[in-house]
Amino acid sequence: MVAQTIPVKTFDLVIFGGTGDLARRKILPGLFRRMCAGQMPADARIIAAARSDLDDAGFRQFARDAITEHVKDSQCDESGIERFLASLAFEHLDIFEDSGWKKLKGRLREGVVSAFYFSVGPSLFGEIARKLTKFGLTTDDSRIVVEKPFGRDKASAVALNAELKNCFDEHQIYRIDHYLGKETVQNLMAIRFGNALFEPLWNAQHVDHVQITVAESIGVDGRGAYYNKSGAMRDMVQNHLMQLLCLTAMEPPSKYGADSVRDEKLKVIKALEPVSTLNVVRGQYLGDDGEASYLDHSGDPQSRTESFVALKVNVANWRWAGTPFYLRTGKRLRGRMSEIAVVFKDPPHSIFEGEFDRRGNVLVIRLQPDEGITLRVTIKEPGPGGMRLTEVPLDMTFAEALGDKIAYLPDAYERLIMDVIRGDQTLFMRGDEVEAAWDWVDPIIAGWTESGVRPLPYDPLGSGPEDSLMLLHRDGRRWREIKP
Ligand code: NAD
Repeated sequence: MVAQTIPVKTFDLVIFGGTGDLARRKILPGLFRRMCAGQMPADARIIAAARSDLDDAGFRQFARDAITEHVKDSQCDESGIERFLASLAFEHLDIFEDSGWKKLKGRLREGVVSAFYFSVGPSLFGEIARKLTKFGLTTDDSRIVVEKPFGRDKASAVALNAELKNCFDEHQIYRIDHYLGKETVQNLMAIRFGNALFEPLWNAQHVDHVQITVAESIGVDGRGAYYNKSGAMRDMVQNHLMQLLCLTAMEPPSKYGADSVRDEKLKVIKALEPVSTLNVVRGQYLGDDGEASYLDHSGDPQSRTESFVALKVNVANWRWAGTPFYLRTGKRLRGRMSEIAVVFKDPPHSIFEGEFDRRGNVLVIRLQPDEGITLRVTIKEPGPGGMRLTEVPLDMTFAEALGDKIAYLPDAYERLIMDVIRGDQTLFMRGDEVEAAWDWVDPIIAGWTESGVRPLPYDPLGSGPEDSLMLLHRDGRRWREIKP
């Protein structure tokens, strides 16, 4: 039986920074797609607030361009686009100034859900929260959505949490990690807790190790100056990779609900052992044939910021003791690939003679490209000629398996924004989770700073530094291939 989609009440959504890159590429196209799917109430209103010199008509043109550029699979015709544009408005406002806020308040309706999306740089988050309270734009039912990065270390995350909590309760704060909005990530929970098959095997007794890879083929290009202050550890590991690790490693929550799921994720973060320098590799991509290197892109020839990091992580609890989690993420690698691979142990004994190399089953949860789940199993090679074994994937590529039921997989942002309106925080990070993640990450970064050692160079379009391969080789394991 397929559960019905939970309807969304009407809402006023204010997007601070509504003329920025994120609004253009993700937020506005996502809202438009939800409207086309019949999920946005007809009287919902979206108000962009930004410094840009626009009026309502100018912002509607901005949104039309965003849709034309970023929505290729629209179920809407021109009248649908017009309907969406009619729900949009623009308010010129500088967050640091006092003018504009009363007018913005005048645009909000009483008795409807109000949500405020902070799609601006993190240095403005606290100020927006203060102004919203000062000018009385919020009620106890209002929600705020906060973009990444949430701090750059534990101290700044604690300070930011304190600033937001001065004005809002935790149940009103939605910290976005868009990886949690991906269909496959939620499917990881469905697979684990909706089937009796996997959970009994989901432990150190049966799982040899877990690999989590988020690889990109592009470099930092135009974002060099921003990225250089962050690096792969802050930009990817502290949030996205740790969230994936938590969902893979956590105990079954008592129910699928915001606090039950987040309590279990927090326990995983707290169970992570500190990582020794031997178990972490960081790198910087080189240039090639006139292509810029990381140092060229960053604009700082002395930069020690890592564009690649690989780690061996131990989760110190009964379920996972002895089963390492290997994490790696990097830019300018051989391909664009995000996946979690749960590698099960080899069968304890082979009854088959011959060359066949016994290999454990692998469950691969693929986030991109082609979201889907594959289980590698051993079968008999078809035909006569004796008992020969081979490996095949049991494949569940969602687009194929579900056919017309899903014309497309909703983008993570679409789902997450609708969850904000519904008041469901399950797929958002709680304040204590974020702080605990920094607690674990900070000493690793501090170790790099103290040692002064440079990241290792690696060739563009490869698999990262040689030492990252060694991280697994010395344990008798190997990374899964990053495909072009
Ligand atoms: P951007 O620089 O493209 O846009 C910033 C927006 O904020 C603009 O609309 C600008 O007018 C507005 N703004 C800036 N200062 C203002 C002020 N004082 N008063 C009023 N408005 C002001 O930034 P972006 O790329 O859209 O990113 C927004 C946030 O989302 C950032 O926190 C970023 O880290 C995060 N984020 C962005 C992406 C992405 O793909 N762009 C991805 C993940 C997270």
